[in-house]
Amino acid sequence: MEEEFVMLSRTFAVVLIPFLLGHAVASTAVERPNLIVILTDDQGYHDVGFNGCEDIPTPHIDRLADEGVLFTNGYVTESVCGPSRAGLLTGRYQGRFGFNDNPSVDPSNPDIGIPLEEKTIAEHLKTVGYRSKIVGKWHMGSHPQHHPMRRGFDEFFGFLAGGRHYLPEEIYLDDFSDVTRNWDWYNMKLIDGYDRVGIDEYLTDAFSNEAVRFVEESAKHREPFFLYLAYNAPHGPLEATEKYLSRFSNIEDLERRTYAAMVSAVDDGVGRVLQALEKQGLSDDTLVVFLSDNGGSLKNASSNEPLRGHKGRLWEGGVRVPFAMRWPGTIPQGVVREDPVISLDILATIAEHSGVLISPERPLDGIDLLPYLRGEVEALPNRQLTWRSGSDAKRFAIRQGDWKLVRTVDHERGPSLHNLANDLSEQRDLGTREFETAAALSEDWEEWASELEPTAFPTLGKDKWWLRSE
Ligand code: CA
Repeated sequence: MEEEFVMLSRTFAVVLIPFLLGHAVASTAVERPNLIVILTDDQGYHDVGFNGCEDIPTPHIDRLADEGVLFTNGYVTESVCGPSRAGLLTGRYQGRFGFNDNPSVDPSNPDIGIPLEEKTIAEHLKTVGYRSKIVGKWHMGSHPQHHPMRRGFDEFFGFLAGGRHYLPEEIYLDDFSDVTRNWDWYNMKLIDGYDRVGIDEYLTDAFSNEAVRFVEESAKHREPFFLYLAYNAPHGPLEATEKYLSRFSNIEDLERRTYAAMVSAVDDGVGRVLQALEKQGLSDDTLVVFLSDNGGSLKNASSNEPLRGHKGRLWEGGVRVPFAMRWPGTIPQGVVREDPVISLDILATIAEHSGVLISPERPLDGIDLLPYLRGEVEALPNRQLTWRSGSDAKRFAIRQGDWKLVRTVDHERGPSLHNLANDLSEQRDLGTREFETAAALSEDWEEWASELEPTAFPTLGKDKWWLRSE
């Protein structure tokens, strides 16, 4: 009886909401699935079981690929945290609004964040009745106007800045006003809603607990939900508890052992979230996406093999990430897809299937992946994926088909051209031999980049806001 009522009320909302908002009713069938995006931080391409990792078992993360789709060519929009998240959260290339670098965490600067005229995924989903929660790292501005609960989320448990210590005894500063040195904010307490709170457990476990609680509570609500579970693990500092470290006594290198423990804690959390979905009978109603925000870092003992490069570079190792998606009964199980997909596609997909109407003034840059995953179309469109680091053309990349033109700080002269089909590790520059391909890609990139804005805020480490004059 209760179930029938819930189903009826959802149908009712689907038909009425666009009408009430003054838009035409969406013509395609609207399913309004719940959405869970599990985003890890600086996890290497190779550091999940489904991409061949052997020293760190990730059985629960692997379940998402086993019971859904594994994307071997899954990308993010930048090789560092902030811009990558801004792209994922808005479904638009973040350079369109000048989010070109990691932002300063200065809480007094309202310009640091996703501009208010851009919409976050939570703001979009709110228009069609979703309840949303973010658990974990925000990094999209610390000024009150950019607080997640002012950017579409109904609930928030986590932190505003780009990183945090993991052990409860390291989390003690009450607020930004206690920050007197660079990086002190890694010691700040967490935020529950708008309140500062300490924790008495390992940070990753605290996030997993909050996520499970939200899934359990959501089962009592009629509305669909969106959970953005943005673990900061396995981003530095490398810190883990004995519970997880003891699983990896076989790894001699202490840094790799600690990193493995951190990934293993995330994997436990993913398992608990999937279990909660199952227990509440929500698995078939929930699209779960797993990915990392950028490639593994040189600082966290990660592995991006066999890819070249790492966090901070537009080589494949910086922007190609572990990426899997599950929606039982709707998308196939155990399928491997090699067409390039990108984090931008997450919002484009959920928008299409939840009835979100997108303003033509700010079109999404991703595409709905479901027709492809359901086999209704044979391949994804032969689109170009594009990247720009910073505000100029010194660091950029563009991929179309198997071709990739890339320029990083490692390049002494111009960009290099690679065919990823037979040069996955980007070792052989074919730019001279395939001059026309390189020139065409370069031209296309210039055209795309002409639509982007210069960086709109002070970047991390480039200001000293904590040196207050009183
Ligand atoms: Ca990151």
